[in-house]
Formats: sequence, C-alpha cells, structure tokens
Amino acid sequence: MELQERLNEVRSRIAAGEHEAGRPTGSVQLVAVSKTFEADAIRPAIEAGQRVFGENRVQESQGKWPDLKAEQPDIELHLIGPLQSNKAADAVALFDVIETVDREKIARALAEEMKRQGRTPRLYVQINTGLEPQKAGIAPDDTPAFVTLCREELGLSIDGLMCIPPAEENPGPHFALLAKLARKCGVEKLSMGMSGDYETAIAFGATSVRVGSAIFGAR
Ligand SMILES: *Cc1c(COP(=O)(O)O)cnc(C)c1O
Repeated sequence: MELQERLNEVRSRIAAGEHEAGRPTGSVQLVAVSKTFEADAIRPAIEAGQRVFGENRVQESQGKWPDLKAEQPDIELHLIGPLQSNKAADAVALFDVIETVDREKIARALAEEMKRQGRTPRLYVQINTGLEPQKAGIAPDDTPAFVTLCREELGLSIDGLMCIPPAEENPGPHFALLAKLARKCGVEKLSMGMSGDYETAIAFGATSVRVGSAIFGAR
C-alpha cells in the first residue's frame, strides 16, 4: 500500500471512531509520527494534506524540519519524546507543541527559554499512568500539584496531558485515568493512542492521536 492509502485509512478510522463515540467530526487531531523517516519519506504525507507531525528527538528534527517547514509554513510540529534541559532552547525554537513536560527541571528550563525567545509553544504534561520505572512522566497522584506549579509558579499555560500506556496492558483504563486527571486539572487536550490503539483512545476522549507505523510503515 502507498503512504497516501495508509493515511486515508487512518483518517477514515478516526472519522468512524469519532462517529461511534458521538463526537463531532474533526474533533480528533491526527499527529503523524515521522520519527526515523527522512524528509523525502515525509513529503508525500505533506502533499496529501497532512500538516501535523510528531517527532521524538530534537536533534533528528533539526536535521529535517526547518527545510520542510520552509516549504510548507503551516506545519505544526509536536515533540513527543523526552526532552533534556540542554535541548530546551532548540525545542522552543522548533516545536509548536511540546507534549513531554515531565519534571520540574524541564518546566523551569522551558519557562526561561520561552521568555528569552518570545516564543510560546503549547505545552502538555506527560503522565506515567502505569507508574513504569523506565518511563518518563509525572505520577498520576502528583499531576494536580505539578500542573499548579507550572501554572502558578512558572507562569506556563498547560493545555494538555499525554500518556503512553504500558505496552502489555489493556490501554483503556490508562486512557480513562488520563481523561479523569485532565478534568481534575482543567486541561482540555488529551494526547493518547498510537497505531495499535488509537480507536480505543478516541472512545475515551482523545483530542489527538499519535500515529506512526500505520502511516509511514514499520521502523
Ligand atoms: C513512536 C511513537 C508513537 C507512534 O507509534 P506507532 O506505534 O508507530 O504509531 C506515538 N507516541 C510516541 C510517544 C512515540 O514515541
């Protein structure tokens, strides 16, 4: 199958998921995850009208997205991988949404850089819903306090929450937990669901899904 066919398939499944959940058409944003793929592999998706992309590494993104953004200025780029504080300046300069605010140190570094550069990427907090030791993210119980710290102490507006459920578990309860935490914190955006489970995530209220291999193929 060609990229365009796979992209259309994902789009129609998203539309079906919205319909099934009784949600408005277009209420779920597709973030096409292009990590590991080169600019030439990404261009057909842009030609097919895709404008929102996700990447997990700052350095890799710097190698391909400045040119692609110059060709197509209305691209919206999401950072969905862990961010080190020495890369905060680069991330603020390149990304439109940073989905992986996962600790106080990085929140402080982002606040400082946003002030310095006068650029305001939208921010989501990553939640470790499965409390996995190897995975980044704020623990569910600590989420309200962390969001309050970001907002009140650091002056950051937090637009969303993001999670990556444990690979071997049923994702539904993790998506439900993320939605509950978002309501509790007064946060509107919910980034959840990947190639294997985005339809489930839509049923639980995802406002964006991060889909890579179902569009670009295996990595
Ligand atoms: C790679 C990645 C995705 C996309 O995964 P697929 O299974 O290829 O759809 C989504 N979210 C994050 C955080 C990722 O790192």
